[in-house]
Parts: sequence; structure tokens; C-alpha cells
Amino acid sequence: MSTSVEQKVIKGGEFLIKDTQASDIFIPEEFSEEQLMIKQSCQDFLDQEIYTRLDEIDSMKHPELMPSLMDKAGELGLLGTSVPERYGGFGMNFNTSMLIAEVLGAGHSFAVAMSAHTGIGTLPILYYGTEAQKQKYLPRLATGEWKAAYCLTEPDSGSDANAAKTRAELTEDGKHYLINGQKMWITNGGFADVLTVFARIEDDKYLTAFIIEKDFGGITMNEEERKMGIKGSSTRQIFFNDCKVPVENMLSNRR
Ligand SMILES: Cc1cc2nc3c(=O)[nH]c(=O)nc-3n(C[C@H](O)[C@H](O)[C@H](O)COP(=O)(O)OP(=O)(O)OC[C@H]3O[C@@H](n4cnc5c(N)ncnc54)[C@H](O)[C@@H]3O)c2cc1C
Repeated sequence: MSTSVEQKVIKGGEFLIKDTQASDIFIPEEFSEEQLMIKQSCQDFLDQEIYTRLDEIDSMKHPELMPSLMDKAGELGLLGTSVPERYGGFGMNFNTSMLIAEVLGAGHSFAVAMSAHTGIGTLPILYYGTEAQKQKYLPRLATGEWKAAYCLTEPDSGSDANAAKTRAELTEDGKHYLINGQKMWITNGGFADVLTVFARIEDDKYLTAFIIEKDFGGITMNEEERKMGIKGSSTRQIFFNDCKVPVENMLSNRR
């Protein structure tokens, strides 16, 4: 008799079309004591740090406020839950990360800033970065020492992302790419230290992502967008003018 347990892995939207056993469905009653304590910490953070200053956050009068709130979230470990421990995070499982996202998702503009940092800002490096890129960036992102943004959208390419016009040109010495172009609606743009930026190399069919540090130079931006909602999250148009990126900062673990 076989004693092995077959692990069912559901891919993509398969759960919509496949029969699912009730016993396979995770329900909130299954959260552990530890997970419920983490949930309470998130709720306390919102109650004490966010809900007490919603108007101040939305006013955008103090640009340093949002990054300082993210620093506090980082101190509590809330920015590194999905990052493995070997890269300075907490390596929590998917259910725990979802629980945290669910509670903090009620955090108005803060939720946008935080999820852009922990999601599109951090995960591409975790999933697709080289070992050296992960070692360099993830520990700083997991603690919030560095804040992250993700730059894909352009004035003429949103849903049709691959129509982007930003270019990446290899320098003659082969050591850098020069990034030229503009990005639009970039969450956390006003204070991000690390930006994952998509650009096209020569006539490649698809875009390539680069990890760009704010201090690489050649980066300017417009004023904050005045939005109808989530008014306190930073949303910027960003311009790259001969931004010089070391070749090792191409986001690719296939080299
Ligand atoms: C607050 C905010 C924050 C953002 N933050 C970021 C960020 O951090 N980084 C980043 O890269 N981008 C960011 N974006 C950009 C966002 O990803 C784009 O707005 C989104 O991809 C849609 O692009 P678009 O606005 O150009 O709309 P469009 O692509 O022009 O779409 C307009 C409408 O047409 C519909 N549509 C488009 N194509 C089709 C189609 N083929 N068939 C049917 N309907 C279609 C869309 O559903 C939509 O309703 C942000 C946007 C906002 C508003």
C-alpha cells in the first residue's frame, strides 16, 4: 500500500472549472493562534498609526509622512512577510501573507503604498532576480530601509504594456544600459529608492526589466498627481534621461 500523499496543485483559474472538495478549502477558522496575533498586530497598526491621521495622509502636505509610516510598518516586520528569511524577511506562508494583506488593505492610501512596495516593488526581484540582486535588494526592501516602485505604464501604453517606448541602449564598453523614456502613474514614485523599470533593448519583441536605484542619476519627475481617491499615495510621472544602469542590474536570472 502506498503511503505517499498526492499534493494537488491548482494552477491559474483552474479552481473556477474544476470540482473542489470542501475539505480542500481553507477557511478562516483554520488560522493558527500565531496568525491571529499577526492579524491583531496589523489591526493595531492601522488603528494607531493610520486611522488617526487619515486627513493628514490624504492632504499630501508632508511628503515624508508616508515613507515614515512605511518605516514603522517595516519595524513591525510587516514589509518582509513574503520575503524568505535568508533574504532578511520572515518567509511566511501564502495564507499568512493574504491575511496581512486583507487587514492592511483597509488602510486607505497607506495600503496602496505598502502593497506597491511589498508586491510589484519587491516580488519581481524575489521571483526573477539573480542571487546577487536578491542579496543586495531584498534585505533592504524587507525592512523598509529602501522603498520600491514598479515602472511599466507610459503615457501611451497602459493595458497594452508591451507597446512601451522607453529604450535601453548598451554603452560602447558593454558595462551599462542607458535608459531613456517616461513612465506614468508610478505608485511610490515620489520617495522610492529602487525602481523596477521596463524598457526595450534594440528591436526585442518584449520589454526587459532593470533594477534602477534612484541615485543612478538621470531621473526627474513631475509633481504628485492629484487623484480623486487614494489621495495620500504618491503617484508620479517619471522621466529617464540617459539613466546609466550597470548591466548586472538587468532583472534576469537566466544569465
Ligand atoms: C492610482 C494608480 C496607480 C498606478 N500605479 C502604477 C504603478 O505603480 N506602476 C505602473 O506601471 N502603472 C501604474 N498604474 C497604471 C495602471 O497600471 C494603468 O492605469 C493600467 O494598466 C491601465 O492603463 P491605462 O490607464 O493606460 O488605461 P487603458 O489601457 O487605456 O485602458 C482604458 C480602458 O480601456 C479598457 N481596455 C484596454 N484595452 C482593452 C482591450 N483590449 N479590450 C477591451 N477593453 C480594453 C480598459 O479596461 C480600461 O477600462 C497606476 C494607475 C493608477 C490609476
